Amino acid sequence: MSTYVFGHINPDSDSIVGAISLSYLKNQLGEECIPTRQGDITAETEFILNKFGGKLPELKTSYAGEKVYLIDFSNTLEAPKDIADATILGIVDHHKLGDITTDTPLECWIRPIGCSNTIVKEMYDFHKVEIPKDIAGMMMLAILSDTVIFKSPTCTKVDTKAVKELAAICGVEDYKALAMEMFIAKSAVKGASARNLNTRDYKMFDMNGAKVGINQLEMIDISALDDRKEELFEDMKKLKEDDSLHTILVLLTDIIKEGSQLLVVSDDESKVEAALDTKLQNSQAWLPGVLSRKKQVIPFLQPQFK
Ligand code: MG
Ligand code: MG
Ligand code: MG
Repeated sequence: MSTYVFGHINPDSDSIVGAISLSYLKNQLGEECIPTRQGDITAETEFILNKFGGKLPELKTSYAGEKVYLIDFSNTLEAPKDIADATILGIVDHHKLGDITTDTPLECWIRPIGCSNTIVKEMYDFHKVEIPKDIAGMMMLAILSDTVIFKSPTCTKVDTKAVKELAAICGVEDYKALAMEMFIAKSAVKGASARNLNTRDYKMFDMNGAKVGINQLEMIDISALDDRKEELFEDMKKLKEDDSLHTILVLLTDIIKEGSQLLVVSDDESKVEAALDTKLQNSQAWLPGVLSRKKQVIPFLQPQFK
């Protein structure tokens, strides 16, 4: 039996870097841990690993009989299929509490702050373990990604402080410029299929029995997708069927204009309109100021299914 550390399906940078940073901390504390991932990495995560020489965690999708730490999720729909047959030693997360439960007591670090890696930074501080330069750099960029360079309403003082301290450790002075480079890498859409675009940051939620899928594309200029909306809608319809969803939302988030273009395919569009206080036109709406799925979308959508 081994111990693995991994993040959610369709892994983002927080999930991949978190597996690396939390495994290293655990190893320093004398607990042998292996960082893994549940899926392919994004262009953004590739940028982060290349920048700081990080090693890609191994792909592993089955964990029956193993010990595990979960990072950046606590939701069954984002977990490996056989998670119920694994022993969960701990959860480090910054989302709403999911439905994963355990048979044994566990270590839990769940806080309403901007990034799981900020929590991992606090764990290093708590245990007085030094963070190596390369891991500090990756953690810094994961936090800058999750907080959209501090613009997201999920961002807290704890996150900005962590970034500054990690920047000092990894020796990057202009961390905002580096984060901008990262978002440019993340914004590349040329040649990507509609399915790739629709699932880059795709999560499913069980909202009182109704399955809702939400994808978010964070870009420096969403007009790059202006002539691909039809194609995205066609694929959203297929994805809705594939995953038996009541509703699928795609948020095209413009991090410069600071808002999201919402695309909707739903059995009942009025629920989405009521939740987000908007009027859809051709199943679309511009949501000014909306940058965060977890804080500005899910909390309002969930009550519509009560
Ligand atoms: Mg995540
Ligand atoms: Mg996160
Ligand atoms: Mg994100």
